[in-house]
Amino acid sequence: MAKKIRVTVWNEYRHEKRNEKVAQIYPKGIHGAIAEFLQKYPDIETRTATLDEPDHGLGGDVLDDTDVLIWWGHTAHEEVKDEIVNKVYNRILDGMGLIVLHSGHASKIFRKVCGTNSDQLRWREIGEMERIWVIEPGHPIVEGLDEYIEIPHVEMYGERFDIPAPETLVFISWFEGGEVFRSGCCYTRGKGKIFYFRPGHETFPIYHQKEIQRVIYNAVRWAKPVDGPKPIFGNVEPLENIRGEQELS
Ligand code: ZN
Repeated sequence: MAKKIRVTVWNEYRHEKRNEKVAQIYPKGIHGAIAEFLQKYPDIETRTATLDEPDHGLGGDVLDDTDVLIWWGHTAHEEVKDEIVNKVYNRILDGMGLIVLHSGHASKIFRKVCGTNSDQLRWREIGEMERIWVIEPGHPIVEGLDEYIEIPHVEMYGERFDIPAPETLVFISWFEGGEVFRSGCCYTRGKGKIFYFRPGHETFPIYHQKEIQRVIYNAVRWAKPVDGPKPIFGNVEPLENIRGEQELS
């Protein structure tokens, strides 16, 4: 059997400890719920990491042993140590995939990847409906989906979302209140692939929804590292036998 994709699901893990409603929806934490449904796919193995663990659970060899890192954070972005953010960023450049979920848009790592104020957007929390449209039906991240996904109750995120133009925009959301949002954005940085996926407010059972789980699974497969060539940098000899200027004269 082919090597499994090693996924680390990172979660801030604060809401679940403080808010009973969130704890009821995600008794094992949001990270636990995501790891659990991913683990059911035979080509994936998961581990979890959370903010309050030493080095936020990302110390030692964890990142080296991670093919795709999933990131959920909301209230404590500033508590994530810069040193760890830099480690994650360097691993992305080296080929690790990153999937940023929902309020992870304001995380240090996503802001570093974007180079913009990606924490800037419109929002509203009244439990309205979201319809997420697939706009790239040939993209691997939408495999197995219908033309759109409906989530009955969400927190709204609206444009303008201050991100760099995605290399591929896979989903656009429409909200009952009238706004639209770029909900599925693909980027590459170095050898690494990055996917931002909007759904996942903590007080709604969004990560229990089958189509949302399918998108995250597809995104893991899309974002996994590729065993490509090692580029050689710096001054090099020509591959062909080239007559230099001296020989010509
Ligand atoms: Zn939220």
